[in-house]
Amino acid sequence: MSAPPPDPEISVVVPAYNEAESLDPLFAELRAALAVTGRTYEIVLVDDGSTDGTAQRIATEAARDPRVRAVRLEVNAGQSAALAAGFSRARGAILVTLDADLQNDPADLPRVLAALEGADVVSGIRAERRDSWLRIVSSRIANGFRRRVLGDPVTDIGCSFKAYRRAALEGIPMFVGVHRFLPALCVFRGARLVEVRLSHRPRRHGVSKYGVGNRLWRGLHDLVGVRWLKSRLVRYRIRPGD
Ligand code: UDP
Ligand code: MG
Repeated sequence: MSAPPPDPEISVVVPAYNEAESLDPLFAELRAALAVTGRTYEIVLVDDGSTDGTAQRIATEAARDPRVRAVRLEVNAGQSAALAAGFSRARGAILVTLDADLQNDPADLPRVLAALEGADVVSGIRAERRDSWLRIVSSRIANGFRRRVLGDPVTDIGCSFKAYRRAALEGIPMFVGVHRFLPALCVFRGARLVEVRLSHRPRRHGVSKYGVGNRLWRGLHDLVGVRWLKSRLVRYRIRPGD
């Protein structure tokens, strides 16, 4: 019997909901960027109950390349659920997240990994963000408000390009909407955060899954819960030797 393949160093976890047209260039760009890093990797592509052929496209790629792993959700469960499902299957010591729609540029990956050398969590900042002015202004206000209410150090939570050491994420409760709070929750437990300015591109295919309204109200609702969670998180250090 042959030994199972060793765990990869890096797991790239990508949630995808109706992003079929973006997947070919995404796989190509991710492979090129990961090759530059010289590390072993897997790409965990989560189909979040898509209806446009996303699942089929991922399955084809996974059949062709053992480093691509398909996770398929039965029905659309949302970005946080898709991330949670991807994390639950990921085997790497480093977990990288980015969007499937090519708005994040995989070529930034080496810089994200370099920033993680001295940190537990890296969070991207979309420099020269390529979205409508309404979205840019509303997320600036939301980021500022969230930072004040929570004491959250993250400049641009809507930038999905992030990286985590596995230990930083372990035990974080994965609730609906947690993708807007993950780095902060890690920091509240003592993780070291570094932010890096990354490129951002306009959406070329498909449509955004969010409007200003659904993000605002859900975000506010979640903010109340996360504020409570922050105040009640258990904090402890086990004595060395025990
Ligand atoms: N996404 C998902 N499930 C959802 C909504 C979004 O997996 O229910 C994915 C989506 O396919 C994309 C990422 O989450 O890869 C971010 O979504 P989107 O690009 O629509 O957000 P925006 O960039 O407009 O803020
Ligand atoms: Mg997007």
